[in-house]
Amino acid sequence: MNTKKKYLFVDFDGTIRDTIPDPTEKNPNDRRPPFEPEEVKIRVGMSEALKKWRNKGWFIVGVSNQSGVEKEQVTADKVVEVAKHTMDLLDVHFPFYYAPHKRKGTPEQLSLRKPDIGMAKLAFQEWGEPNLEESLMVGDYKADEEFAKNLGIAYVDVNDFVKEQEKNE
Ligand SMILES: [Mg+2]
Repeated sequence: MNTKKKYLFVDFDGTIRDTIPDPTEKNPNDRRPPFEPEEVKIRVGMSEALKKWRNKGWFIVGVSNQSGVEKEQVTADKVVEVAKHTMDLLDVHFPFYYAPHKRKGTPEQLSLRKPDIGMAKLAFQEWGEPNLEESLMVGDYKADEEFAKNLGIAYVDVNDFVKEQEKNE
């Protein structure tokens, strides 16, 4: 029997929950993660889609780049609190990993940031060996797609992920 886990990695910002407009002079279209629980808005269909995959035997793991910590826009504690609130709203709870580093940090710390696969390695250490053929990554951004590629797993864009589950209702 194959006891390796089928992982479903899922991005948070722009995937599970909406991002917040954060215009700067240089980047008028910039967006940021929600930094307060009240700012969290869940994508329609996401709770149902995650429950479906979970019920089919996939092990869900959240993987989120949170360089706002390094930039001191948000504290690490707040990132965890808001992630927990996000999962409460989803009514689906799973391990959550985040990468607080972008430029400052040890190579190991920096390797947490997608598209590098440090967060997946932590998950495999903590939760068990992956069945890479059956695992997948759901995201909204190039770094998510490259994270999947670097891990050797399939990638699904969040729009297709939610659409697919509606179709199978
Ligand atoms: Mg994202």
